[in-house]
Amino acid sequence: MKITAVRLYTMNIPLITPFKTALRTVNAIENLVVEVETDEGAVGYGEAPPTAVITGDTIPSIAGAIQYFIAPKLIGRTVDCFDELHDVIESSMVHNTSAKAAVEIALYDLVGKRWNVPLYKLLGGAKQRLETDITISVNPVEEMVRDAVTAAQRGFRILKVKVGNDVALDVERLTAIKAAIPADSVIRVDANQGWTPRQAVRIIKTLEDAGLDADLVEQPVKAHDIEGMRYVTANVDTPILADESVFSASDAIEIIRTHAADLVNIKLMKTGGLYGAMSIASIAKACGVECMMGCMLEGNVAVTAAAHAALARGIITRIDLDGPALCKSNPVHGGAQFTDSIITPAEGPGLGITGIDGLIPLEI
Ligand SMILES: [Mg+2]
Repeated sequence: MKITAVRLYTMNIPLITPFKTALRTVNAIENLVVEVETDEGAVGYGEAPPTAVITGDTIPSIAGAIQYFIAPKLIGRTVDCFDELHDVIESSMVHNTSAKAAVEIALYDLVGKRWNVPLYKLLGGAKQRLETDITISVNPVEEMVRDAVTAAQRGFRILKVKVGNDVALDVERLTAIKAAIPADSVIRVDANQGWTPRQAVRIIKTLEDAGLDADLVEQPVKAHDIEGMRYVTANVDTPILADESVFSASDAIEIIRTHAADLVNIKLMKTGGLYGAMSIASIAKACGVECMMGCMLEGNVAVTAAAHAALARGIITRIDLDGPALCKSNPVHGGAQFTDSIITPAEGPGLGITGIDGLIPLEI
């Protein structure tokens, strides 16, 4: 099965409500979709969102990286030797992890199709279903409480609450949500780098004293401040999850070796795709560190790939794959099925995707 063409499109999906974090506000998904075609007619699908504030990637930068640097090195190669394909993509240019991820997802989809097996079974096959949390955007307190109650009514038992853009309000936000949702709900807190190390310790201890019983606090301090995150991890009881601080496998080694966090959040758009994600899962497993599988504002192509990775490995114990749950509609046919908080894979080969409506060809 030889690669003959790489085609680029955009996919637009409106969100149910604007997505707001300490870093940005987004009203609709506009993501790049890549199709990799082979001489046997099989097509692999990949996707990348433009997450400029986290990965530095935009639609034009992702498209340019694929068109001019990655795709020319793949045309004519077979999809069989995945180790070599990974090295070809990785060495095509530095950074540009979203572009690399989009292409790599499509190649893994093709490998699954080549062997006629769902991707999660190729990668490890640990589980049959996942339970994802859902994000509650950072807003005025009453609005966040309303969104949290609505999410609980939709069947989401685990809420990931965004805070960090107004330190004075964060404790009030979280305690008000805790009081409004069912007692068996689980709260995860994501500060998106919004606190200083000292603020983080003070806020988290206050939350502990208030009985919030958070499952974890995600990325309390700046991505580069590994020493600051280690200080937070050492001084609170609540598990700390590294997100923006861990892009690569070597980042994960550093975080785990220095005990800077208790948990690691894997995202395909940070690792540059499934190969790097599986590498982090293996490192974490060797060290007994549990992982979360997260996503950016991704549609059903990229989130399906992340779901397959999470289904494959037992060490990935927490799931934050709510991109599709935030969307008003789903133009992707097949792929993972998202029924409220429960994610199950399609049993078709690769990602199990059979087509995508409304793709707009991307000319660069
Ligand atoms: Mg995060």
